[in-house]
Amino acid sequence: VTQDLIQIDAVFREIMPMVASEALLHSVSVSWEWGAELPVVKADPEMLKQVLLNICKNGIEAMSIGGTLTVHAQVENNSEGRWLMIEIQDTGPGIPLSMLDKIFDPFVTTKANGTGLGLSVCQRILHDFGGSIRADTTEEGALFTIMLPC
Ligand code: ADP
Ligand code: MG
Repeated sequence: VTQDLIQIDAVFREIMPMVASEALLHSVSVSWEWGAELPVVKADPEMLKQVLLNICKNGIEAMSIGGTLTVHAQVENNSEGRWLMIEIQDTGPGIPLSMLDKIFDPFVTTKANGTGLGLSVCQRILHDFGGSIRADTTEEGALFTIMLPC
């Protein structure tokens, strides 16, 4: 896989118009939040864009009409090292507990016209870059947390 050194705010800026037009269709507002001192990560920018677009699209689709999608990036230090953490939170219904460990499997979808491939592809791409993705349901809705090694 291609591993460029990439600046996440540049990636965010490139996908913003696409997320915005999707959000407009669902009357969803989008909030982008990141600090000034974000580290670079090693990844393929086009693939990372695909990942983020997929997750944002899922979040917007989950909210049908109205709601807020928040994309937040920050540095996270833990026992395993230094990470870029990207959180994508929506204000939709969240993910049923029984579905949480299945949604990353291929062909798992609850949508009439869904392929169920989005999240499995996202997970594979992130693993290729040494990262991870997890899903949770919070008080607000669904939360997807992406970790990429710095
Ligand atoms: P698809 O979008 O084609 O259904 P995905 O792999 O992208 O496939 O998502 C799989 C399933 O995970 C969705 O059908 C949906 O049930 C669930 N899901 C994904 N994102 C969200 C979200 N933000 N809120 C609620 N459910 C979600
Ligand atoms: Mg999808």
